[in-house]
Amino acid sequence: MTTAAIIVAAGRGLRAGGGLAKQWRALAGQPVAGHALAAFAGMARVLVIHPDDRALAESVADGARIVEGGATRAASVRAALEALSDQGITKVLIHDAARPAVSADLIARVLTALDHAQGAAPALPVTDALWTGAEGRVTGTRDRSGLFRAQTPQGFDFDAILKAHRAHQGDAADDVEVARAAGLTVVMVPGDEANQKLTFPGDFLRAEQALQKTGARMDVRMGNGYDVHAFCEGDAVWLCGVKVPHGKALLGHSDADVGMHALTDAIYGALAAGDIGQHFPPSDPQWKGADSQIFLKHAADLARSRGFAITSADVTLVCERPKIGPHAAAMRQALAAIMGMEVDRVSVKATTSERLGFTGREEGIAALATAVLVAR
Ligand code: MG
Repeated sequence: MTTAAIIVAAGRGLRAGGGLAKQWRALAGQPVAGHALAAFAGMARVLVIHPDDRALAESVADGARIVEGGATRAASVRAALEALSDQGITKVLIHDAARPAVSADLIARVLTALDHAQGAAPALPVTDALWTGAEGRVTGTRDRSGLFRAQTPQGFDFDAILKAHRAHQGDAADDVEVARAAGLTVVMVPGDEANQKLTFPGDFLRAEQALQKTGARMDVRMGNGYDVHAFCEGDAVWLCGVKVPHGKALLGHSDADVGMHALTDAIYGALAAGDIGQHFPPSDPQWKGADSQIFLKHAADLARSRGFAITSADVTLVCERPKIGPHAAAMRQALAAIMGMEVDRVSVKATTSERLGFTGREEGIAALATAVLVAR
């Protein structure tokens, strides 16, 4: 699974006051859109903007790709989807920039629901009585049963929502409307009152209070991992998801991808969630010859399900040969794709051990890894 987040910041809403469009107004020390972007750190992110706002967008982008939107909300989202269409994305979350206080729990609920649905979105039941009115008087009441307030992020199977947007004519209130028009099923997950859309001046104060609560719980975890595999007869080694031609292979129960195993253990370590051998026992024949992507993806999904973004990962391979440098970029790409991260947050480097010890004698390869996780 490779997940992307689209932050929709292309609107011109000025009702909130302050002269700037609301997503660019300052809130708790940075523009509103910056808070929304930060909530999705660790995913591939696209910030879709009005062309006039490029300078503001660049000040908050933090590595997110900036895409210029169209004349309508639907056109803006489509532009962002098209920009992601060749990136191997499987799930996408589409979020209003004007909802800065979105919580990690809410994002996790939408992602989890997407495992079994083409679309998933947060909703809150309407609890106030509903009236119709004209000229300052109540003219009637409406039944509120079965009515919900829609929130974002709205999550979708990437290919399905791209196809839906390509087929959609005109604007839409949100992406659920586009999805349903294309016949997709969208399930509801519980929304969050704190995840309100900033519309009126008073909304900013409430959002600031919600964000301060989040800030007080700032939670950063770090884990390390170490692994060794011995050489055996063969003609290639798997390292960090890349098959590297070599005069030997690595011996192991799985594909023996020593770098990926160290990184997987680093993520489990940051979560205090045991190690790779506990989750995938070598005694279990189903993991014989297994692709180590399974292990790394499990660790990354576990981090996400516990409300953490992996904000950086660093792997060091220790060997005399094969030479890692020519393959490092492909390894970073492979690891980033498996973990659903931006590639500039993933490092792969190598060192020799000056011909000392078991790695120096070319008896095997060792790997060390560090992962940093931040609660969203
Ligand atoms: Mg291993």
